[in-house]
Amino acid sequence: MLALDFLRRIGACSLVVGLSTAAVYAEDKPAAKKEQSVAAEKTEKPAAEKPATKKPDAKKPDAAKKSADKKKPAAKVSREYVSGKKWDEPKIVTPGENGGPPSDAIVLFDGQDLAKEFSGGEGWTVADGAATVGGKGGVTSKRAFGSCQLHIEWATPQEVKGEGQGRGNSGVYLMGIYEVQILDSYGNKTYFDGQAASIYKQRPPLVNASRGPGEWQTYDIIFRAPEFDAAGQVVKPAAVTVLHNGVLVQNHFELEGGTFYDRPPAYSKHPAKLPFSLQNHGNPTRFRNIWVREL
Ligand code: MG
Repeated sequence: MLALDFLRRIGACSLVVGLSTAAVYAEDKPAAKKEQSVAAEKTEKPAAEKPATKKPDAKKPDAAKKSADKKKPAAKVSREYVSGKKWDEPKIVTPGENGGPPSDAIVLFDGQDLAKEFSGGEGWTVADGAATVGGKGGVTSKRAFGSCQLHIEWATPQEVKGEGQGRGNSGVYLMGIYEVQILDSYGNKTYFDGQAASIYKQRPPLVNASRGPGEWQTYDIIFRAPEFDAAGQVVKPAAVTVLHNGVLVQNHFELEGGTFYDRPPAYSKHPAKLPFSLQNHGNPTRFRNIWVREL
């Protein structure tokens, strides 16, 4: 009987050692914890010493559980949210280097041949990878565009002449109707809704991010073309976002209509796609690296 009792106690010790290891693993497993609690009870009170009729203390498992809960918060179970919407896989586009065209862009001017993608431009000159405004008229893209992303690099004359609207004036006329102003606005005061990166006579830029005369500057324009109903009423106005030298200057501004010098903005129904133009305002502003992505 003594030997049997000894063996039973040895077994109980093994059980205790085993449980101390098992407890680490079982903390997050309620089922294992329950087994552990029952087993622990066995080690404290060998079965032989227990009255046959005595039931296990029902409070003990709860007490053990509460103790474990205090030591370590219950692990949170997170479930992944899945929208269930079916999407097409976005196609792969190789980004451009240093403002260069991405792989899906239409290159309109790479510094070589302005006449390839633009009409007009009599008196404009192309040299040293840039086109310079000259003569009397502007240039107009041969292709028509609706909503698009347009990248243009421009520089006002290094030699400063004139002031206000007379200094380095040009402009990007989206659809030939909606002007994002180009102007030398570096230390050159004019009306705010007429300075560089304004939507002409509708909205000044959020900030003046101009570089100095003669320095190359960038416009990255995201344009949403307006939509009209059959009666010619606007059902969705044009909207434009502009980054000037990488700085947000127009944040999805909804245009009130065409931009005019001598009358308030107004819409007039037009086709869904139209060419854009670059203004000739009599100042030798330069252009290079023009590309567009249709949206
Ligand atoms: Mg202008």
